[in-house]
Amino acid sequence: MPRPISAVIHTAALSHNLLRVRQATPASKVWAVVKANAYGHGIARAYGALRTADGFALLDLTEAEKLRALGWVGPILLLEGCFAPEDLALCERLNLWHVVHCREQIDWLAVHRGNRTHRVFLKMNTGMNRVGFSPEAYAAAWERLNALPQVGEITHMTHFACADEAGGIDEALARFARGVGHLPGERTLSNSAAALVHGADPRVASDWVRPGIALYGSSPTGLALDAAHWKLRPAMSLRSELIDIQHIAAGECVGYGARFTAPRPMRIGVVACGYADGYPRVAPNGTPIVVDGVRTQLVGRVSMDMITVDLEPVFAAGNQPMIGSPVLLWGQDAQAELSIDEVAAAAGTLGYELMCALAARVPVRVE
Ligand SMILES: *Cc1c(COP(=O)(O)O)cnc(C)c1O
Repeated sequence: MPRPISAVIHTAALSHNLLRVRQATPASKVWAVVKANAYGHGIARAYGALRTADGFALLDLTEAEKLRALGWVGPILLLEGCFAPEDLALCERLNLWHVVHCREQIDWLAVHRGNRTHRVFLKMNTGMNRVGFSPEAYAAAWERLNALPQVGEITHMTHFACADEAGGIDEALARFARGVGHLPGERTLSNSAAALVHGADPRVASDWVRPGIALYGSSPTGLALDAAHWKLRPAMSLRSELIDIQHIAAGECVGYGARFTAPRPMRIGVVACGYADGYPRVAPNGTPIVVDGVRTQLVGRVSMDMITVDLEPVFAAGNQPMIGSPVLLWGQDAQAELSIDEVAAAAGTLGYELMCALAARVPVRVE
């Protein structure tokens, strides 16, 4: 028997979550953001459920190739644009739309000799200060692009730094309006947080929204307004089983560094899951975990291949956990649900990081 850990991708949840974003922003076309291998879910696995999107947005040209190979003939947007001049030829061959966020990317287009015009998304830096033209430099960049015979339609784009906060987009919206001025063209502004939190705000109304995390059922607002609040369903479950049970006396310790000391005699379950599977090594004692449908907690440090859990609540609920009993690390199983955002919060991170970190050695099933 293979090691009893597996991930399950719930395609019905992906479709449901896409619908939720559409309901929040009914007037906008939707880019399904599938960068980082669809946030760890697998582009090929997610494709069937997300193909009702209006386009797919990602970073990596090899992922764009994969989508074309899957049969997608609609729009694909490269969110960071080209990384080198030779990428422009591939954009033509695969018909990829691409972001332009710096002067060099315009220079490359200006000297490119290709055989079709490029549809570009001109990115404005509205305060995040990673990539994009400042509002002051934006119109000049647009004029330069617009004058190039290599360039066709130009869409205005920005990305919010604080879309998960009330009022968090006000300053960025003012800068965007100032930078775009009266230039013609479609617009795209919102990620998941902006689409859900500010979807009804007419100032963020745009031609395209770019949800990522919401599609995968993790809340863009963390636990403050959780996935259930936004009616998002988990698209990934990580499941395993108990592979051993230890009976330890009060004062005995568990795992590397003896991080957990039993305050009383305890039964400890050993789970086939560790940081080499993508479970966060920094998860502290108390991180939630479900055994046999009963919520309990991690005790002791996360090892490469194993974690240890407190079985007392499971016995107290009347269950008889044994080797082979089901364990839910996040997502859902037949008996319970555990939000990836709760596990992430305990480990001081976000659902984004956990789903992207799912390790290649974990077998994945699609349901
Ligand atoms: C990743 C990304 C998104 C999606 O963000 P989420 O927070 O996952 O919704 C949208 N736009 C850009 C430019 C991105 O890089």
